[in-house]
Amino acid sequence: MIPKTLKCYLVARDSSGSVTAGLAERPTDELPEGDVLVRVAFSSLNYKDALAAGGHQGVVKRFPHVPGVDAAGVVVQSSTEAFAAGDEVLVTGYDGGATRWGGWAEFIRVPHEWVVPLPAGLTLREAMVFGTAGLTAALCVDALRKHDIQSDNGPVVVSGATGGVGSVAVAIFGKLGYDVAAVTGKAEAVDYLKNLGAAQVLARQEADDRSGRPLLSGRWAGGVDTVGGNILGTLLRSLRHGGCVAACGLAGSHELPVTVYPFILRAVTLAGIDAAWCPMSLRLAAWQRLAGPWKPENLEAMAHFTTLAGLGPYITDILAGRIRGRVVVALA
Ligand code: NDP
Repeated sequence: MIPKTLKCYLVARDSSGSVTAGLAERPTDELPEGDVLVRVAFSSLNYKDALAAGGHQGVVKRFPHVPGVDAAGVVVQSSTEAFAAGDEVLVTGYDGGATRWGGWAEFIRVPHEWVVPLPAGLTLREAMVFGTAGLTAALCVDALRKHDIQSDNGPVVVSGATGGVGSVAVAIFGKLGYDVAAVTGKAEAVDYLKNLGAAQVLARQEADDRSGRPLLSGRWAGGVDTVGGNILGTLLRSLRHGGCVAACGLAGSHELPVTVYPFILRAVTLAGIDAAWCPMSLRLAAWQRLAGPWKPENLEAMAHFTTLAGLGPYITDILAGRIRGRVVVALA
């Protein structure tokens, strides 16, 4: 039976424009339109969710709002043949937690085109340790492999390495036998990153070249950049001939100071990654890899577990760049 109300983390704005956020109970029929209703078991915290929790106008278009770009749970109602009650599924990205209510609630209602059957080899909880961050990391690694950056081409580098995307990228590269360098601003995270699979850990300033030289010595066969700005510029200038960087984030800056020299003298590639609207065929393939050959042995070592009521300090920490790994939110 579907209850008349659901518990959620609600972001509201009053008539004076002040934003408040916290636990609330709302009528279930306030959920947006969709042909699949899912009882959420786990959600997660992404940077975008933290922005939504503060009512950031770049993310939240309408109040009241429920954040949560990720959800994993069990179908309780479906008006499409594609899914049936009892199916375990996951939903990440699209408009969830942005223009539509997302996964920080006991239920989500979504179009069936957004729903991914939980792949064999993953639990609902593990799916949310990965979440959008894991999907993004997998798409980045996939982009490099499509550019023929294999484990024997030379070292690869990951920036923002202790973040959600960075942690999963380091772990995947480690699992696949790459010589992976992790770039971090957290001096105390060396053991954490080495346990995930990093062969070396670099302080952030080592990947933040301010010399102004258009090309640096060719160090990396490839890279995953989650921070943008001069660090992405530095990685591009430090690629070997034919190298590739997958750019997915802007944790440091949305800017990109770089000249055309790395492109025209070293034939490097800058691959853009968007997990939110990634086509379903790519998405399914990425989740199959995450559930199988790319699944890190110590996946849960990168996770913190909390509830809707415990999210507050984690939201503060992720906005300050202090989070290590992923934050999973248990709903059940
Ligand atoms: P997190 O907040 O978990 O991690 C970001 C990491 O970046 C931090 O832990 C820190 O790592 C580093 N960092 C933070 N601030 C700075 C700074 N000022 N300069 C340099 N490094 C910094 O975020 P996620 O890993 O979940 O996401 C990373 C980025 O990717 C975000 O910008 C996010 O919006 C974006 N994103 C994009 C997606 C897409 O589809 N394109 C999907 C998901 C995320 P450390 O201390 O180790 O250096």
